Amino acid sequence: MNASGPPPDPQAGFDVLGTWWHFDRYEIRNGVVRPCPGATLQAYDPWARYAEARSGWANSGGKAPYELLLDLVWSIRLRPTATKDQPPQLEPERELALLAWCAEHGLLGLLPHEAEVAYLAPRWGPMPEFELAGIPLVETRLLYQWGPNGWQVGMDAWWQTKTPALEKAPKREGEPVPLNLRAEIWEAPSVLRRAIDDASWATLPIELAWGPFFPDIEAKHRRDHFYPPPLSDAFWEDYGEPLSSFLEAATLFSETLQNLDAEPGDDDSEHEQQQVNYRRGRANRTFFSLLSGCHPALARNARGGRTRAFHSKSLLASLAMMAYLDLTSGKRVLLCDEDGRPFVSGAYQARYCSDRCRNRALKRAYRERHRDDDMQRTSA
Ligand SMILES: [Zn+2]
Repeated sequence: MNASGPPPDPQAGFDVLGTWWHFDRYEIRNGVVRPCPGATLQAYDPWARYAEARSGWANSGGKAPYELLLDLVWSIRLRPTATKDQPPQLEPERELALLAWCAEHGLLGLLPHEAEVAYLAPRWGPMPEFELAGIPLVETRLLYQWGPNGWQVGMDAWWQTKTPALEKAPKREGEPVPLNLRAEIWEAPSVLRRAIDDASWATLPIELAWGPFFPDIEAKHRRDHFYPPPLSDAFWEDYGEPLSSFLEAATLFSETLQNLDAEPGDDDSEHEQQQVNYRRGRANRTFFSLLSGCHPALARNARGGRTRAFHSKSLLASLAMMAYLDLTSGKRVLLCDEDGRPFVSGAYQARYCSDRCRNRALKRAYRERHRDDDMQRTSA
């Protein structure tokens, strides 16, 4: 190893608020990665794993969670161009590897990562001011917004006086308001969302943005469904990630870390140089988008003083922040000369992801050298 002196502590001075959750067992059903029936929800602290990984010399503390995601993507070896209309099919062994990863780390958190504000379908509900005026149920609308304390729940209420249709309509608390009576000032149920890949903002119908993550809701109910607040217990019970989205995001994560510093070679054609520059630009945009799910936050220490912390929207954001801490502490993401596996190293000339690959390469080099010797001897 080329390391000299104690390893830098990339987490020095930072606490972490980004706890995550995982179930103990997952399955893939109808193309969605989701907890097995009866599985148990548990808290998971990816940052404790990271601290453990970085506390040992060299690799004695094990791999950081994001390195394990790079390993997973490599072992599944997906073609980066897998399209959305062709559902990915994993071989049984690779499917098991993916489910084991989820049982250890949880799902990536694609929905909470991308969502900023969600407006649910209006429902009949009581509001104290209106109840005093003799109107027991009015149109109410829940909204979930990501804020300083995590996901915050807000509520809007609406009523128009002297509107016979509204007054006469049969109302039951909690039922969706019929379409023809919905307040015109409210847009259709929607989500303000920032796409992971290119960090672009868009407002999408909730049935498109959130529906696919709740596999038990029938397509026709996706618009008016009473979605639970992100990251709540009720949310985790119903939440799953479509296999295609999971694989796409995990592959994107891996490609992003590999391409952040991509440089065209001197011998590359103009076209090849353009491709490399494009990949680097895209990687930097995606990295920004992944990191934007992690915010600096205030925490308190045992003595009541303030300490630095991160607040994280998703597992993916925490993993990206870990990579950021590593990349700014002298580590790089390299590709193994032997099997092409991405690996993280602080050693300047590292070429292999593991001792196994190094030994295999040495053995082959030895054999080749001796074959050359033999050939020279024969020709002499
Ligand atoms: Zn290797």
